[in-house]
Amino acid sequence: MSVTVIRAEGPRDVRRAVDLLGGMGRFVSPGEKVLVKPNICAGKPSESGAVTDPELVAEVCRMAAEEGAEVVVGESPIHPFRSSRVFPRAGYGDFQERYGFPLLDLDAAEKVEIRIPGGVAVREEVVARPVLECDALINVPVMKTHLQTVVSLGLKNLKGVVPTRDKLIIHLRGLDQGIVDLNTVIRSRLVVVDGLVGMEGALGPTNGRPVRVGAIVAGDNVVEVDAACARIMGADPREITHLRLAAERGLGRLDGFEVLGDGIDAVRRDFELPAHPDLNRFMITGVFLRIYHALRRPLDRLAGRAPSFRFGEVRLDSGKCDGCRICVKACPVEAVSMRGELPAIDAGACIACFCCAEACPRGALSRA
Ligand code: SF4
Ligand code: SF4
Repeated sequence: MSVTVIRAEGPRDVRRAVDLLGGMGRFVSPGEKVLVKPNICAGKPSESGAVTDPELVAEVCRMAAEEGAEVVVGESPIHPFRSSRVFPRAGYGDFQERYGFPLLDLDAAEKVEIRIPGGVAVREEVVARPVLECDALINVPVMKTHLQTVVSLGLKNLKGVVPTRDKLIIHLRGLDQGIVDLNTVIRSRLVVVDGLVGMEGALGPTNGRPVRVGAIVAGDNVVEVDAACARIMGADPREITHLRLAAERGLGRLDGFEVLGDGIDAVRRDFELPAHPDLNRFMITGVFLRIYHALRRPLDRLAGRAPSFRFGEVRLDSGKCDGCRICVKACPVEAVSMRGELPAIDAGACIACFCCAEACPRGALSRA
């Protein structure tokens, strides 16, 4: 298995990346149903680094269609965003008219509950039917940071096959293991990472800063592709929990694979990464925080003291907030409510999943 890393001037250079792997014919066959899964998590243009460039997605579709495949594109954005608003704002509003390939709103598709044998955090999951009915999934994420998982690449992009509010379950049960669980049953035949413009900083995956990397990375193993991308971003893949867990569970290697094309050093661009120490990650993704909050109030009351410790607090920049209420809908445990025009967070109920910060369209919420 190999990964190609190329310097890219534009979306059409994706052909060179895939040709170096042996061409699209290696990955899809005539008559196969292919679902191309970009990252269209939010209604931001691809120049923001938040979403995959639609031109690159179209080029991947063309290559698969040239091999005789029946190609559709499918995505479910971050909950509670609506695809009908997100797709046009992200440059995908007229995707079918412009490029001739249907863009499926996975939130509107039939939901199917699947079992994940050997799942660690998630043993059942709801997945949009088109994802289960395709013969091959081509995973086309964008290269960016993520405030909870440090990076959001191919492994993380598959969370978008889970529609609507159901994707919040993964946050509640443990995001890093949940991402890996999902990737054990939903396999990517080919992964193509859009590194033309990525996103850096602690407010990724939606509100970070765009970074012009000028790279495209491709391969048939999602862990190896993600590991190569992490190195391009200046991160050690062994220190990124979901990548390490995926490797430990046999989904791919973090080192020792062949890199074709221009190579990692040719496009390396050290991103500003979200700080993510192990202890904090444990508290965020485990049940620890919920137990802590359940016990904290009665214990504080018994001790006659005001709560003095908080973990994983969310900070609101009220100057940026426009009172849109999206964070209220995004919270999986109903810890956010509106007090007048501003949201208020119940620290006792908050599980520090940061879904609210991820969904906030104005970047008003962040880790405190
Ligand atoms: S914090 Fe963000 S999501 Fe919440 S109301 Fe304000 S602008 Fe909207
Ligand atoms: S308020 Fe807390 S629990 Fe709710 S979405 Fe934000 S971080 Fe998660």
